[in-house]
Amino acid sequence: MSKRDYYDILGVPRNAAKEEIKNQYRKLALKYHPDRNKSPDAEERFKEISEAYAILSDDDKRVQYDRFGHAGIDSRYSAEDIFRGVDFDEILRDIGFGFGGGFGSIFDLFLGGRGRAHGPTQGQDLRYDLEISLEQASSGLATEIEVPRSERCSECNGTGAKPGTSPKKCPDCGGKGQIQHVQVSGFMHFARIEPCRKCHGRGTVIEKPCPVCHGNGIVGRARRINLKIPAGVDTGSQLVMRGEGDAPNGDGRRGDLYVVVHVRSHDIFQREGSDLICRVDLGFSKAALGGELEVPTLDGPAKIMVPPGTQSGATFRLRKKGMLMLRESGRGDELVVVQVKTPTRLTARQRDLVEQLLREGL
Ligand SMILES: [Zn+2]
Ligand SMILES: [Zn+2]
Repeated sequence: MSKRDYYDILGVPRNAAKEEIKNQYRKLALKYHPDRNKSPDAEERFKEISEAYAILSDDDKRVQYDRFGHAGIDSRYSAEDIFRGVDFDEILRDIGFGFGGGFGSIFDLFLGGRGRAHGPTQGQDLRYDLEISLEQASSGLATEIEVPRSERCSECNGTGAKPGTSPKKCPDCGGKGQIQHVQVSGFMHFARIEPCRKCHGRGTVIEKPCPVCHGNGIVGRARRINLKIPAGVDTGSQLVMRGEGDAPNGDGRRGDLYVVVHVRSHDIFQREGSDLICRVDLGFSKAALGGELEVPTLDGPAKIMVPPGTQSGATFRLRKKGMLMLRESGRGDELVVVQVKTPTRLTARQRDLVEQLLREGL
């Protein structure tokens, strides 16, 4: 599953000021601190908001996240780096909590818990929002997008170790990546298996980190990807590009890229499924007498015949002038709704003529 957006997690806009981010974190921390909130997912939520705050409260990390998303953070900072220097203690003391109640520090809370983004993993799935015009949605299009994502570091070939050196077996866990803690209580022995804190579950440690990826084995890169959007897509349509997401951290497969389509609203046409609706003005004399009326379509101007005595609001259907249908060979219709226009400014002669009509009882 895709990791959630840090701004969404804190519920702040992307341009939020530092003070706003801090206030929002304080509010959420008060709500989800595990010492206070005993619901089972409070701890996860607290971790999530604390991680989001750690990134967004730091100028460098925030810039990196804005540019490259989670990949930018994972490739540049270790879990310790993320939480180093963050004013958690101050904030939590402010709201009346320490890291008492089981947690010595924010590091225990995180690194003890889940061993962030290490071990054999699948790369993160990524989301890309693509805005297109209605015309493009109807015809489909081939385009190129630039996706910030993580790539295997080419300097160290993904090992994270400085070229010429290699990762060593972790001395704490002996390469297993986990450590077993045994607690004795009376006759009972409780075994707890936790990810090794020294190697974060990897089983290896890097003595001399690669200077390019700082030991993570992955780097943030903007990658150009060719896309083919099929005809007939609508807002919310998703294209899944398998294996075009983030590189895995270590062995594993790349994540997927989800391209989410947004169709811009159109000046002339309103879309209703595969049909298009447009409103066209009709002069009152042509409405009375009938005749040819030029109307816009996606393929350019077309002509329809309006019958004598056409009323405002009358609808005319142009078969197969709507949107191409997704995954079908058909095409929708265009519905032209005419609006009879009453003239607002008349020349002397026009006024004369209309006055004649009025005398005739019209
Ligand atoms: Zn590297
Ligand atoms: Zn270890």
